[in-house]
Amino acid sequence: MFTPVDQQIAVPRIGFVSLGCPKALVDSERILTQLRVEGYDVVGGYDEADLVVVNTCAFIEAAQEESLDAIDEALTENGKVVVTGCLGNRGSVVRDRFPDVLAITGPQDYEAVMEAVHAQLPPPPRSPFLDLLPDSGVKLTPRHYAYLKISEGCNHKCTFCIIPDLRGRLRSRRIDSVLGEAQRLVRDGVRELLVVSQDTSAYGVDLRYEAAQWNGQEWRTEVAALADALGELGVWVRLHYVYPYPHVDALIPLMAEGRILPYLDMPLQHASPRILKAMRRPAGGEQVLERLQRWREICPELVVRSTFIVGFPGETEDDFQQLLDFLEQARLDRVGCFTYSPVDGARANALPDAVDPEVAEERKQRLMALQARISAEKLAGFVGQTVQVLVDAVDGDAAIARSYADAPDVDGLVHLHGAEGLLPGEFVDVVIKSSDEHDLYGSPAD
Ligand code: SF4
Repeated sequence: MFTPVDQQIAVPRIGFVSLGCPKALVDSERILTQLRVEGYDVVGGYDEADLVVVNTCAFIEAAQEESLDAIDEALTENGKVVVTGCLGNRGSVVRDRFPDVLAITGPQDYEAVMEAVHAQLPPPPRSPFLDLLPDSGVKLTPRHYAYLKISEGCNHKCTFCIIPDLRGRLRSRRIDSVLGEAQRLVRDGVRELLVVSQDTSAYGVDLRYEAAQWNGQEWRTEVAALADALGELGVWVRLHYVYPYPHVDALIPLMAEGRILPYLDMPLQHASPRILKAMRRPAGGEQVLERLQRWREICPELVVRSTFIVGFPGETEDDFQQLLDFLEQARLDRVGCFTYSPVDGARANALPDAVDPEVAEERKQRLMALQARISAEKLAGFVGQTVQVLVDAVDGDAAIARSYADAPDVDGLVHLHGAEGLLPGEFVDVVIKSSDEHDLYGSPAD
């Protein structure tokens, strides 16, 4: 029998007070974005919060007094307070008056704020096949890209997952709120927006696709409208966690037109209908191969990333072979694979016919070997082409960059030579000279 786990695992709740100028507001947005992406709940009242972050201002005396009052109030009403922002630069002013604050950090010191929050309230449990953030762990993204979380929770009931119990049903942010945040991030130097949620294709269904004004135009709270509007910002827009529902077809022309990146992260988890049913996956009955073919006809450069779970309870050799056959035919560009591991409270734990972990591991190796061949073949198709990349890091004449086909941390890289003078966060056209199973190699075009 399924046991709800919301009493067992509490989601940490953060209160936030934001004072000061537009720059301080961007800092607040950046911290709030990171908190949301890591799975914290951002709440409106001191009572509900487990901790309060106060982003302060110290521009003039009055602003400083207002900030000190805000810290005082947060300490009185809640007791656990992290101070950041411009007044943080005058740490002794805060510390002398409020020795009990948990941490004091300066403006744009997002990393230190997150460290202080983590020290007090560790983020909710992570799972490799559910997390919105890469497996490499929770870290603040570099300043040139940012995750944009568009909703919380999920209306599905995948049997291996406890997110709906942990975070509740889908709650979308209205489109004007998401677009406002995106616009501020772009003004602050973000060049790539990574749209994340537990189910991006379902965005807005809970709000009945309510329309809102943004930039003098009306937009529906719905995934294609969101993609279209984000396309106005002139930066890379990458969509994660999209399921192959029919209405997702509307995204493909936007990709073909170059409004958003021709990249879809579509966690399919399996291909055997029997296992998909046991997993209770959303869109498990959709004709994925046919859909992929149609999408590629409209947008030939489309890159599809997916993740799969092998060794799910009851998975037979035949089910696994169906998955391998699917991968052969689908020729996905990027694939992640996890062996099934039970999550406390997940219904799949009660399913019969657990798969021996050694068998699951061996299946994973076979899957990854097959995909390595497909990936190498696909990447070889880039050799000789000129592609636009976003530079992530520069070291002398070498640089690490990514093309539209590479989401940060989970996909491949483009390794550059002759890159002196380039800067992180810069777009540059490069000529691809060679490739391997995961990465491309090239140098800046003349
Ligand atoms: S779609 Fe399934 S796996 Fe993803 S959050 Fe919802 S219930 Fe969990």
